[in-house]
Parts: sequence; structure tokens; C-alpha cells
Amino acid sequence: LSSTIKVDDFTAQLFRIHMQVLEEGLAQSVFLGINRSDYMFDCGVDGTAALKQIEINTIAASFGGLTSRMVAVHGRVLKVLGKFEEASRLLPNNPSKGLASGIAKAWELYGSPSAVVMFLVEEVQRNIFDQRCIENELWNRNIRVIRKRFRDVFAKGSLDDAKRLYIDGQEVAVVYYREGYVPTNYDQQNWEARLLLERSKAVKCPDIATQLAGTKKVQQELSRPGTLERLLPGHTDAIARLRATFAGLYSLDVGEEGDKIVAAAIADPDRFVLKPQREGGGNNLYGEELKQVLEKIRDSPERTAYILMDKIKPQPAVNYLLRAHSPLRASKCVSELGIFGVYVRQGKEMVLNRSAGHLLRTKAIEHADGGVAAGVAVLDTPYLV
Ligand code: ADP
Ligand code: MG
Repeated sequence: LSSTIKVDDFTAQLFRIHMQVLEEGLAQSVFLGINRSDYMFDCGVDGTAALKQIEINTIAASFGGLTSRMVAVHGRVLKVLGKFEEASRLLPNNPSKGLASGIAKAWELYGSPSAVVMFLVEEVQRNIFDQRCIENELWNRNIRVIRKRFRDVFAKGSLDDAKRLYIDGQEVAVVYYREGYVPTNYDQQNWEARLLLERSKAVKCPDIATQLAGTKKVQQELSRPGTLERLLPGHTDAIARLRATFAGLYSLDVGEEGDKIVAAAIADPDRFVLKPQREGGGNNLYGEELKQVLEKIRDSPERTAYILMDKIKPQPAVNYLLRAHSPLRASKCVSELGIFGVYVRQGKEMVLNRSAGHLLRTKAIEHADGGVAAGVAVLDTPYLV
């Protein structure tokens, strides 16, 4: 991230906190990760489709809760249509349970039965019902859950001598971030609250290093020849399987390699997507806009705030998108498949590492970007044939 943090203030601020806690010494050796790796089916020129990774989300990966209800929804729709056989073939899917099992394991390893799990939530809580599904699973396991915002942590959070985190007199075992991944989540006080959480002994989901590992820039660097080989020595088959899911990813770092790809993208903008280090949808640039921005920044270090990616082109299918206040009509759609992963690591030991289910989001082809929260995509269910 060395080139990125020179020009991207948000990533730089996260990085400063990362360095500060490393220098101080990490207070916790248990790490909890809840990831969602997203894919689209790219149609090759010969008509064969392959899953290509769009991105990996390492912080606040959402919809694991609500999507746990979707099999029942679509199963019911199929039954109403008399398609009982098809309904029985829908894949069971319950990410709520899998994600909660990771949080529960981290809570257990923290080792204080009276400590709580804290969901760090948004100022305006638009996705509360998704979070509640996971919360309910924790209460079912007799684990107490509290919901707090950054401003509550700033006002009432504190560390004791052993860096145990307390809020409202309650000890916090696990901090589960559902906030904190976009610059608008932070003012000066919220940055201070973030630093307090990172310094604490609470298990963070994710810790700040893992959040940084989820940037588009790191995704691009991982795709460089030789990098997977260095990180997974001896795992030739796994490396080949991973690499097969990578679309072309290109660094815009200052230099010849960057100059070349910038020129190629200006000449043929529809081949690419231009991505800044942002999460949450609606930030990428396509087509004419991509071209204009690249022309403006091509000779400036500012370009290193972005990466370029080959545009994935899925085969559209006709479907009906059911959304509030919008008419029901057939649209040409594309889908994005997310796979949830949950892991708990204690020092160098991997305590738990498993797939927790999937998420399918479908949107009309007119929209290049934008997810469910943006009002563009809808939750869907894959039907395997
Ligand atoms: P964010 O972190 O904002 O979710 P993404 O990388 O997931 O960023 O991009 C947002 C959306 O843009 C994706 O859900 C997908 O619909 C579209 N998109 C991203 N990358 C590509 C790509 N390489 N090809 C086609 N569409 C893409
Ligand atoms: Mg995304």
C-alpha cells in the first residue's frame, strides 16, 4: 500500500493506526475474520462461463443475515406455482448460523463468560435486520450482544491496565464492525474511538490489518505473478484454482507499466473498470467517465489511488426484480455470487476456517455499479441445473 497511502488519505489514516498498534504491541492474539468473496460469471469468447472474482470484503460484509431467509421465500414462490420438485432442489443456505459460530468461538477464546459481543453499528441503522439475524444466533447460544456507535465508544469506552475494553461498565470480548469502512463514517472523535478499539484486548472482526488487506490495491498486488507462490509455498493446485478466478488487475503506480495500461484504457475504456480504494458500491468508473478521469490524472501521482480491472461480462438472463415502490416487469439481469468465509486464528494456529454459505444478488444490466443497499440489486437464490 506504500504508493496508495501517499495519495489516499483514508487508507493512510487506517495505515497509521495499524502502525501505531503494531509498535505498541498487539494486546490480543485471537483474530476473527468474516469475509465475503464476490464473483460474476464471465462469458469467454467461446461461450464458456467462468467465475471471476470481483472483490473480497474483509469488513462489514453484509446480507448474510437476510439471505438466510431467501431459500424459504423462493421455495414458497415455487410451491405456489406448483413446482414442488424444483422447490426441494434449492440449496440450503444459512450464513447467519455460520457467521455467528465464528463470533461465538472468538468470544469463547477470549475467556470471560460475563463479557459481551459488541456490534459496532452505523449512525443511521439501515441494515439492522440483517445484523439482528446474526445477533439472534448469539443470544441463542447465551452470548450477550450490545449495539454501539463510534460516538458511544468515544463517550463511554475505556481500557483498563490490561487493555480490557469496557463500555457502560461491561467488558467487551468481541468487536464486530458493521461500520467504519468509508471516510464519511469518521470524524476526529470517531478516529479516536477506532484507535481505542484497535489498541484494546477485545477480538476485532476484523482487525485493522485485515481491513487493509481487503483493499482493491492489495487484491491487485495479490494477482501479480509470483505473489501467491510466495504466500502459499508448495500449494500448486490451490494456487492454480485461485488464479483461475482472477480477472486482469493492473497497477497504476508511476512508471512504465502504469503508463502503458493507462494508455490502453483511454483507447478502449469499455474493456476496463477503474476502482478507487472504496467500499460500499457506487465508486467505480466505467466507459466515458473512466476515460475522462484517466485523461485528467494520467500524469499525476493521483492515479495511484486507483487500480484498473478487466470488465467482467456475464451473460444476461431475464428475471423479475421485486422492490418497494417500483413496478414489477421483466428485465435483463446479471447476478453476483458471494461466498461467505469465517475463520478464527489464535497466534499461528487456525482454530476454525470454513465456508458459511452464499449470497446471490441480481440487478438489471443498465446498472454497472450499485448493490442492494443502493436500491439497485435484489437478494436472489441460485438454482442449480
Ligand atoms: P465495492 O467495494 O464498492 O462493493 P466492487 O468491486 O464490489 O466494489 O464493485 C461494485 C460493483 O461494480 C460490483 O458489485 C459489480 O456489479 C461491479 N463491478 C466491479 N468490478 C467489476 C468488473 N471487473 N467487471 C464488471 N463489473 C464489476
Ligand atoms: Mg462489492
